[in-house]
Amino acid sequence: MSGKLRPVGSRVPLPTSSVMSLPWERYYVAEYTASGTDALAMAVSIAVAGNNRVEQPEVIIPGYGCPDLVAAILALDATPVLVDLLPDTPFMDDTLVRKSITDATVAVVGVGFLGIPERLSLLAEICREKSIFLIEDSAQCFPPFSTEKPLADLVVLSFGRGKPINLMGGGALLYRKNFSGEFRDVLLQFPKLPQPIGWRWYLKRFIFNLLLTRYGFWILEKLPFMDVGRTRFNELKSISRLDLSLSLLYAGIRDYWFRPLPHQRYTRELQFLEQQGWQLLDTRTFGEFGLADSSPRIRFGVLAPDMVTRNKVWEALNSSGIGANALYEVALPYIDGVDQTLIGTDFPVAHDFASRLLTLPCHCDVTDSDITRVVDVLKGESAV
Ligand SMILES: *Cc1c(COP(=O)(O)O)cnc(C)c1O
Repeated sequence: MSGKLRPVGSRVPLPTSSVMSLPWERYYVAEYTASGTDALAMAVSIAVAGNNRVEQPEVIIPGYGCPDLVAAILALDATPVLVDLLPDTPFMDDTLVRKSITDATVAVVGVGFLGIPERLSLLAEICREKSIFLIEDSAQCFPPFSTEKPLADLVVLSFGRGKPINLMGGGALLYRKNFSGEFRDVLLQFPKLPQPIGWRWYLKRFIFNLLLTRYGFWILEKLPFMDVGRTRFNELKSISRLDLSLSLLYAGIRDYWFRPLPHQRYTRELQFLEQQGWQLLDTRTFGEFGLADSSPRIRFGVLAPDMVTRNKVWEALNSSGIGANALYEVALPYIDGVDQTLIGTDFPVAHDFASRLLTLPCHCDVTDSDITRVVDVLKGESAV
């Protein structure tokens, strides 16, 4: 076997001298942040400031997703309120969203999942009715849905590892051009970190990209202390803005649009799975919700008929050198380090989604023969 194909992650670009317009410039202004989590925490702090009568503010998030959502909310001493999903989708059940809104709710976070934006029109309607903030978490989708249709009050982007544009960290909070100065002042209270692009940065980039290669990743996965691919809850201890290098951001966006689109071949060649009770998270199902066929994906998601079949295929793909994985593996409350007493554990649909999801690599180094191998393994192992 010649190394291992990593599950996710685009290579880090070199800064470019060209200048380009940014996809959100029409409706939004960006404040760059130390990470996507920092951007989300800032979004929550604005929502809290906008509802300043509330004693113990609450923020609504999906019951399946990144534990950083919880960390960002707790960092502001607000309470995360989890909502279960609609079956076989990453979407929050909107009936439950309505039911979860109380006098203390300050915001709903619509979280995009592997390129599929949340149903923001629907959520915007609910939020407008209740006079609370709609935050679009677009860490996994680029460009954010709101850049086309400015439905969200605030939009969160991440430039971390495993995200559409990997700049080895950083993020952005987008706010509307007509946003009140009062809310801008909330942002300015957060310290701004420098981002020097010197020899240390170039060395870090070199090592980072080396670890993305097949041999690099194969070694990385063998190191027990690295715990590769494991999601853990990490407390957010400080919230900072970042003096992001725009030359780096421009390079990241340019490279993003030049990436190959392996998801198109997966979509065509994995249709047979649907006769066996699988479901593809592809444009046939989610195109109408804003999943774009022409945008590169970070991962291609499929739902197995059950957990046993998912685990069997997961193992088979990994033994043939393909870094398929199950992303978070469990519903949000069950992720290592998350305080269940705070958020409850009764999210059966999120639990079901987590137990059947498998993600296939979709990054710039996935070759035609990798896809052929994925399809062959699935043909052999996908039956229940
Ligand atoms: C990764 C991620 C974040 C956090 O972004 P970081 O830059 O890693 O802090 C937030 N929300 C979602 C949906 C994510 O996938």
